[in-house]
Amino acid sequence: MKMRENDIVERTRKEYPAGCRIVLDWMEDPQAPGPGTQGTVLAVDDTGSVCPAWDSGGRLNVILGVDGCHKIRTEDEAKTTLDWYGKRQKKENTRCPRCGSHMEGKTAGHALSRWAEIMVCDMCGTFEAMEAAGLMERIPLTQWAAVKEPQEGGGPWEG
Ligand SMILES: [Zn+2]
Repeated sequence: MKMRENDIVERTRKEYPAGCRIVLDWMEDPQAPGPGTQGTVLAVDDTGSVCPAWDSGGRLNVILGVDGCHKIRTEDEAKTTLDWYGKRQKKENTRCPRCGSHMEGKTAGHALSRWAEIMVCDMCGTFEAMEAAGLMERIPLTQWAAVKEPQEGGGPWEG
């Protein structure tokens, strides 16, 4: 049985929920951002194209099959995403990108992560110090709340 067009669109929407972070593999367009450019998915349109806001600016759609992209899957890709969030982190009362908990008061008063250019909560700052000392197993950046939640349909990260 041939898969209906609607099924493909639905499957693509599930795979690339709004807010999830993607990495461009290639794009058949002279205006396209370079391979490796990251973006945040805004929607999947009715033709099944992925519509992102690219970190480099611009909103060229990814036409799957013609163009290619994938979700964040490596530590390097997760670090790029976290560094990017770090530049946009709210100045106060934000959420910890590592554990997702509320960070009371000024963001600058919390802990600078050892693994990405972003502030984390005091508890995570302590855990990271233990990770760095080899006392705790390090949590991969791909498992951080700010990376995982958007990838799994939690919507755009608003930390
Ligand atoms: Zn935390």
